[in-house]
Amino acid sequence: MQRNQWKAASAQLLKHWSRSGISQLPTSTAESHSVAASWLETHASLVFETPESANPRVNADVSSDSQVAPPIAANLVAEPSPQRQSVPFTPQAVAEPTLKSVAEPKTLAIPSSSPRSTSPISTTQPGSAGTWNSKSLPILERQVAFDALNAQVIACRKCEEIVCRRQRTVFGVGALNARVVMFGEAPGADEDRLGEPFVGAAGQLLDKILVASGLKRPEVYILNSLKCRPPNNRTPAESEIENCRPFFEAQLETIQPEYIVCWGAVAVRAVLGSTDSVGRLRGKFHFYRGAKVLVTYHPSYLLRTPDAKKLTWEDMKMLLKDMGLPIPGKS
Ligand code: SF4
Repeated sequence: MQRNQWKAASAQLLKHWSRSGISQLPTSTAESHSVAASWLETHASLVFETPESANPRVNADVSSDSQVAPPIAANLVAEPSPQRQSVPFTPQAVAEPTLKSVAEPKTLAIPSSSPRSTSPISTTQPGSAGTWNSKSLPILERQVAFDALNAQVIACRKCEEIVCRRQRTVFGVGALNARVVMFGEAPGADEDRLGEPFVGAAGQLLDKILVASGLKRPEVYILNSLKCRPPNNRTPAESEIENCRPFFEAQLETIQPEYIVCWGAVAVRAVLGSTDSVGRLRGKFHFYRGAKVLVTYHPSYLLRTPDAKKLTWEDMKMLLKDMGLPIPGKS
């Protein structure tokens, strides 16, 4: 891609974001272009991939113009990186996060909305292997679908008690062709203010865990069972999860990840329909449609119960092993 094409694409993307109601764009035009260019750099291999090359591991065409698009494909391949090797891979390293030891995550506001979100989506029997209900979409169609779905989320007023107090809806962020979806509970105060999932203290711990695992935040997709913050961070009601189900099910169906990590009991209830404890369900794979599901403790719980961090670290190692990725600290 030539530099002028890159600039035009950046301008087009800004228009697209603006139309999509993304409100996290910088105020100055120059800064906006820089953000758009950065997004394109990171996601060029996604934007330009073909359905056949949906796996970023085999998508090398965009990185051929190394002057304009530095090793984009390499950014998306979950191989060990220098950053990964510099992080001590011990539960203690996860347990004692210091913000400065973690690279600033490139969080992206992904616009959204799915044409399929209006049709009912059947749920696989919790715990049994299944398949996705629809065929995999090319990446641009996923983006369009998410744009439409996000518009529906923003307009949604199904949960009366929540709607009158929410500041922002929190749709989700990350790669639309992610191998792994991180599924959390509900937005907290920081998420409600910023419109992004996992940006508060729990989010910072999640970032630490991802870094320690060698996964980069932009490579995964992060969402919650609810798109809006329950008052006073209370646990989401069953009815609220059901109200929001069409949204997160449409997101999962669109991304069709290989793996879903359920962080905490609320995520388990939403994805697997189980009320069993995390302690009982962790340590083995479950299934949701075509994805393997791993259950582990919510980062908020880990902040309150540091001893559980080593269990989550075991869960992450199990995930990495099944994904065929190197396990940090293991030679
Ligand atoms: S939590 Fe979900 S279902 Fe409830 S109002 Fe928000 S978007 Fe709508």
